[in-house]
Amino acid sequence: MSDHYVKVKVQLEQMKSSGEGVEKEEADIIKDEVLVASPPASVSPILASDTPAAQRETPKTSVTCRNQSKSRSKLGKDEKNTCTKQDSVPALQGTIVASNANSGKPVNRKNNEQQMLQIKGTGKILQGKTETNGNTVPIHPPEDIKVGPHNKEDANKVAKRRKPVTVDTFKAKTSLEALKLSIRQLKWKEFPVGRRSACDIYWHGVSFHDNDNIISGQVNKFPGMIEMLRKINLTRAVRTMQELFPEEYNFYPRSWILPEEYQLFSTQISLAKDSDVSQKPTFIIKPDGGSQGDGIYLIRDPGDLRVIAGSHNKQSVVQEYIHKPLLIDKLKFDIRLYVLVKSLEPLEIYIAKEGLSRFCTEPYQEPSQKNLSHVFMHLTNYSLNVQSGNFVHSDSLSSGSKRTFSSVLYRLASKGVDIKKVWSDIISLVIKTVIALVPELKVYYQADIPPGKPGPTCFQILGFDILLMKNLKPVLLEVNANPSMRIEHEQEVSPGVFEYVPSPVDEEVKVGVIRDTLRLMDPAQRKSLTSYPEHQQEEMLGSPVRGTGEEGRVLPSMCLKQVFPKYTKQFSYLRIVERITALFLRFLGVKGNMRLGPTGFRTFIRNCKLSNSHFSMATVDILYIDITRRWASMLPDSREAGMGLQAFVEAFFYLAQRRFKSLPLREQVVSLLEVCEAQLENQGRGDPGGALPEDSTSTRRSVSCSRTQPGRTQHPHHMSTSAPGQALSAPQLCSPATPRRASSQDYRLHQRLRPTHKGNVEN
Ligand code: ADP
Repeated sequence: MSDHYVKVKVQLEQMKSSGEGVEKEEADIIKDEVLVASPPASVSPILASDTPAAQRETPKTSVTCRNQSKSRSKLGKDEKNTCTKQDSVPALQGTIVASNANSGKPVNRKNNEQQMLQIKGTGKILQGKTETNGNTVPIHPPEDIKVGPHNKEDANKVAKRRKPVTVDTFKAKTSLEALKLSIRQLKWKEFPVGRRSACDIYWHGVSFHDNDNIISGQVNKFPGMIEMLRKINLTRAVRTMQELFPEEYNFYPRSWILPEEYQLFSTQISLAKDSDVSQKPTFIIKPDGGSQGDGIYLIRDPGDLRVIAGSHNKQSVVQEYIHKPLLIDKLKFDIRLYVLVKSLEPLEIYIAKEGLSRFCTEPYQEPSQKNLSHVFMHLTNYSLNVQSGNFVHSDSLSSGSKRTFSSVLYRLASKGVDIKKVWSDIISLVIKTVIALVPELKVYYQADIPPGKPGPTCFQILGFDILLMKNLKPVLLEVNANPSMRIEHEQEVSPGVFEYVPSPVDEEVKVGVIRDTLRLMDPAQRKSLTSYPEHQQEEMLGSPVRGTGEEGRVLPSMCLKQVFPKYTKQFSYLRIVERITALFLRFLGVKGNMRLGPTGFRTFIRNCKLSNSHFSMATVDILYIDITRRWASMLPDSREAGMGLQAFVEAFFYLAQRRFKSLPLREQVVSLLEVCEAQLENQGRGDPGGALPEDSTSTRRSVSCSRTQPGRTQHPHHMSTSAPGQALSAPQLCSPATPRRASSQDYRLHQRLRPTHKGNVEN
């Protein structure tokens, strides 16, 4: 690791004339409490520019790979690196902006040991000098700057007493460089090859299970996150929410899961085309486990898909292609935003104020049969476009094929775009997406770390890929469980010889995200913060001198902005599936399970008093078998038998629809939840009529999934049978979610329920 790495990054850029207007706008955003995060720290008038790369010292890591071809490199996601580093990579650090306080002109750090430092995002000016290690310490801390949690004296005492936070980086893989930088900035202690005794924080490069022997501390991955964020599971999770809240979840393009929904997809497209011949929709096919654009292609005719229909090992998602994206310089681009899920219970979400914009390298044209295969025009993946001759590696944060998101916002703001609204919509998209994911994550969490069993707590940085449509509406493309945290990129310096060179844009964004994630996860910080009211906690974390373990040291203000629970009020009504999940978890029974057995399902029905003479336990068993078997066929990889959460949610929707027929689905579901929760609460209070013990007869009668007999049950709601009928009557495209619900309603094997206490129930 070179010493260059620990030098404070001095971003030298003059206030751009166009920036002044944006700064004003930014101030407005900060004031605004309605769903709008503070603007990106870097959307400050003192945007970093071309200067740093030019001024920093030899930005080279000598990595020589003999005869390395320029074939598609897997930078980032797959954590592969074929080159061997001989030196560490010198890079930039921190987000402190140095300027000549009087003139506002850029200053050369070397010639200005003592200088005015403007802390980005705070507007505060601090006088300081640069230490030889590159860190900046204040000489005369201004009075108004808070020092430590209580006061300066206390903080210094605490600092002396405190042991540094320990971080196990052994499994960090490609995040390592950014992580090391962050740890140094915080003056924490790194354990690069692990440690015998426990560490406070474990940083894994891939998954929660990178190291299975952790029983305390905090791990930067949640169990099940990778699984949940595979394209099919994400689609399913969002689709469930679309069923309940179609308006709120219309930020995700219509998607079909292949091969199981091929027929449905094909029928819907034909119908849509027949009803409007001018319609020429385009679709994008994405392999389920794919990343970095691998295996992605565009089609205009479902017939082109036939090759994979019926094949289980080619699971993929086919998605409506957004054909009118917002363009900058005639190029399509997407946004990578980093989101920290700090905790599931209570739900805590932070969004990085700065992100990346990744540009295509061929001017965009709306899809036509001729240009469908032009990946550099349609796909924004860095890993693809870097292979184009047009790719521009830039030292500037606001030009080239990869830029900061704030620089894009600048451009938009200068054209009169309401960037405050854009941010607000993006935050809303992020919160809603996380809310869609949380239910199943809780199931994974409980299976891996059952309550009462020693285990670590978890947090995770996610990479949200978002596309802005021409009308500025953000669209969710995907969420990455392991977003690349590399801060250097490979460059071919001469034929066959590659070097890793620092990438200022990546570093600007990623080091801040990792460092501030660590700051938020600091065990001492968490403890001391809990004594403050919530609204003050965030403010305190954003304090420019909140250096943990090193009070008085200048750390940039937080680049992570809390959005949940901050915006609980606006979003908590969406958390219906979590309530269904609470029921599911309650009846799961055996610790470590993720699937509900038939007995558990019966107990749920009985304890919630959902059966009666018109809805017998035998019918319940059949319902269980039908739904479980269908989900088993859709999830061919699953080894565990029984009813998973998604199947349980479907069963719950079905029960709700049966019972509260005249209501819209959402109200049906909420009404049934209220019935169930009230019953269980009564039992909790010892109401003798509430809890019905599982009787031995019913236990004997209960059926296991593996014992189902094909002839015994009907298949009332296969997507491919009942769903197309629904879809056929629809003149335009509709999401498969609707048929799924319709098919659930189509259960013919169950008898009708009697009216119950609600006025609007079925009768
Ligand atoms: P991967 O995980 O392979 O990167 P993505 O879902 O991110 O898969 O898709 C790759 C790229 O394809 C995106 O970065 C984006 O440029 C483009 N893309 C994906 N989905 C759509 C869509 N529905 N409409 C338009 N472009 C899309």
